[in-house]
Amino acid sequence: MRRRNAMKIVAIVRESPHVSRADVARLTNLARATVSSIVDDLIAGGLLRETGSKESAKGRRPIGLSFNTEARYSAGICVDQDRIDVVICDLDGVIRLEYSSSLKSDHTAQELVEEIHGTLTRALSEAQLPPDKLAAIGLAVPGPLRGGSTSSASPEKHIVRIDYRIVQEALTKIVQREVVLDTNLNMYAIAQIGKAKIAADFNTILIVRVGHLVRSAFVINDQVFEGRGKRAGEIGHLKVPGQMRHCFCGGMGCINTVASIPSIIDCCIDRNQPVRNMDEVAQAVKNGNKHCIETLQNAGIAIGYGVSAAINLLAPDMVLIAGRNVIEHDCVRHEIYAAVQRHSLAPNLEDCKLVLSMSDEKPEAYGAALRAISTHELLPADSGF
Ligand SMILES: [Zn+2]
Repeated sequence: MRRRNAMKIVAIVRESPHVSRADVARLTNLARATVSSIVDDLIAGGLLRETGSKESAKGRRPIGLSFNTEARYSAGICVDQDRIDVVICDLDGVIRLEYSSSLKSDHTAQELVEEIHGTLTRALSEAQLPPDKLAAIGLAVPGPLRGGSTSSASPEKHIVRIDYRIVQEALTKIVQREVVLDTNLNMYAIAQIGKAKIAADFNTILIVRVGHLVRSAFVINDQVFEGRGKRAGEIGHLKVPGQMRHCFCGGMGCINTVASIPSIIDCCIDRNQPVRNMDEVAQAVKNGNKHCIETLQNAGIAIGYGVSAAINLLAPDMVLIAGRNVIEHDCVRHEIYAAVQRHSLAPNLEDCKLVLSMSDEKPEAYGAALRAISTHELLPADSGF
């Protein structure tokens, strides 16, 4: 009860800075003594600050209260195929530090936990933040969250499928904080929703992220539509006519088999181009290597095909395609636009804003940090409330 009252008080002070204790008592219907006692504890805990008394015509005005956005921090961590990003935010979602480290792609769950913990520790130390001020952690990982078995014919043979819930559990034990787990795509969507500009103008947004899988999130009025069993968004398993590669889902010709990063690398290798990562693909494209360019064009065609299916079905206000490693290439973007034009129903496409985001920020990690702030109750469990 005291904890709930404390949270109510924190919420009021956040909304109306410089509010007085008397106002808080009135707004919460709590006794003034109760409010004062809780406020004193919140001040001692650093979450609230007193803003000093002001003289007014009626005499001394009571001391106001304000919320200390730097009382705690949240960390958002994004695990991608070859790196770990960390973003540290204050309680208002203002970024304090961005940090990255590389990750070898054939890691086990245990190695991943150690890498995440090491990266987080270095980030906190670089940000010069005391570890006890870390309120919660958001962890963004490649979907799906639970690992599955892959067939030997999998085009993603060099992807280790990890059960990320085990990683979440182990990390929670080590850092002694709540760890909120979701997919990179959903965390990315949260970061986009956080950008008020987009949310204000567009009520329905389809976000497509090209990474180690091609996934999508449909955002309706700031909420990610998750579908039954949170299984919505698998645009990467739409079958593209004419594509014959086997997918780990058991199907054939899925978008994932031509447009995901591991598949692009595999397709280049199949054409005797010995590339190991997207940097090497980019270098080959720069040198005019036609095998790598065609591979990327096929990826663009497949992505455009999937996006147009979604445009026809959902008629979104906006489609945002992200995944800089892939869509930074002119040949990919050109084929995406061409395929969307070719396959989309004209009226649906006409009213839809198509954006290819080349952002180099760390939106997944940022979304994870925001998610941790919103999920975690601001008051730490050991604060006496
Ligand atoms: Zn598939």
